[in-house]
Amino acid sequence: MIRKTRSHININEQLLFEMSSPGKKAYQLPPLDVPAVDAAAALGGGGTRESIEDFPEVSEVEVIRHYTRLSTWNYAIDLGMFPLGSCTMKYNPRINEVVARTEGLAWAHPYQPDALSQGAMEVMAHLESALAEITGMDAVTLQPAAGAHGEMTGILLIRAALEKRGDARKKILVPDSAHGTNPATAAMAGYGVANLKSNSLGMVDVATLEQEMTGEIAGLMITNPNTVGVFEENIARICEVVHAKGGLVYMDGANMNALVGVARPGDFGIDVMHLNLHKTFSTPHGGGGPGSGAVACKAELAPHLPGPRLARVDGAWRWNYDLPESIGRVRAFYGNFGVLVRALAYILAHGGNGLTNATLDAILNANYIRKLLQPFYDLPYQSPSMHEVVFSDDRQAKNGVRTGDIAKRLIDYGFHPYTVSFPLIVHGALMIEPTETESKPEIDLFVDAMISIAGEIETNPALVTGAPYLTRTTRVDEVTAARKPVVRWRRPA
Ligand SMILES: *Cc1c(COP(=O)(O)O)cnc(C)c1O
Repeated sequence: MIRKTRSHININEQLLFEMSSPGKKAYQLPPLDVPAVDAAAALGGGGTRESIEDFPEVSEVEVIRHYTRLSTWNYAIDLGMFPLGSCTMKYNPRINEVVARTEGLAWAHPYQPDALSQGAMEVMAHLESALAEITGMDAVTLQPAAGAHGEMTGILLIRAALEKRGDARKKILVPDSAHGTNPATAAMAGYGVANLKSNSLGMVDVATLEQEMTGEIAGLMITNPNTVGVFEENIARICEVVHAKGGLVYMDGANMNALVGVARPGDFGIDVMHLNLHKTFSTPHGGGGPGSGAVACKAELAPHLPGPRLARVDGAWRWNYDLPESIGRVRAFYGNFGVLVRALAYILAHGGNGLTNATLDAILNANYIRKLLQPFYDLPYQSPSMHEVVFSDDRQAKNGVRTGDIAKRLIDYGFHPYTVSFPLIVHGALMIEPTETESKPEIDLFVDAMISIAGEIETNPALVTGAPYLTRTTRVDEVTAARKPVVRWRRPA
């Protein structure tokens, strides 16, 4: 007989508020050994309160157990594959964490004098030169805090360079396959956005570009490989067309996991780009940060980079603030330093050949998945895949099952879903990026799950549209959750 009483392992953990019991607390302070101060008076009479309505009162062990139980519900890269396309969810080697926690680096204060910060400055200088080498560019800033922030920085560099030429322009060309941050960036930087339609191969069409690239276009924002996982094979020609009309080319480098050690954007004509250090160079991400969107550029744009810049003076590093052509700071201090340390540790631990091998393995893994799943899922673009592969749900949609349903069913098989419904140019997209860190057995498990789901859709589509079954909550009403979020618990009347 199953007892109906509560057990200490709850399928659905109570909220901390519901566990509250008046008078409990999770701390114990020693008696005061200094004169007491009236906090409200000390703060000038404002900014304090005696109590917070419905503030949970729980003991230390209750807090610890509550959050530890919740943490076991999470899916994580340390539990298994995370096939989210466009996100490059690779495993983060533990050595990076050890290096980032090195006392002198982890406790360095940004206001320390330069003389006491030489090691930290050396880390940043070394990383800047490694990234310049990897991208084939002349200069790098580590300030931007994420990819989108790097885009913003890069487009402001383009604006500054064109203004200096005396030819400020009005619009930025953005292919229809672009990540949503690209047109958003162009608009935030004050440009109009001109849409560039992809061709049937999922690439920029050179003839269309030649028509669209007029004297009012400041530049092109291009992702390469693009968001359908396809290398823009005319990239050198594309850059020539933009340059010939006096524009500059920005590359969204979020997909550099397909290029590092194999091809350099600086060599195929890109003027400025960002790198997502938290994607390509293995910083844990997915929880909303911190990240780093380092920006690399050619010499013409370098004088406009955000300041301060590192300078070598009399055998020591100094911060140079004397940058009359700089676009100014884009962030406090020098960037998310811990992320920079991890990126350098990752680069040095791999070495040049190791980085190249990682890239080749990432491409191999994506193409292995493509080959095995192609008999079961539609492939909208036949162009060769790089580090990710994009299927569509066209075949499954005939049975009333959409990409979001397949993703939910994948959860029952123990995998995090792939990227759903992006890129927008693929109707019902399933975007899969395994990264180089997955082994053949792990990828085989994933492929088996995807093939099994394709079979379920043939025989019992309702099984898939009702998934997931093994999670604590099944489908939530995403629209209501977004439109009417409940963010404050209230004691039931
Ligand atoms: C992730 C991503 C971005 C944005 O990067 P954030 O660090 O999330 O701001 C931009 N473009 C592409 C193609 C991406 O995959």
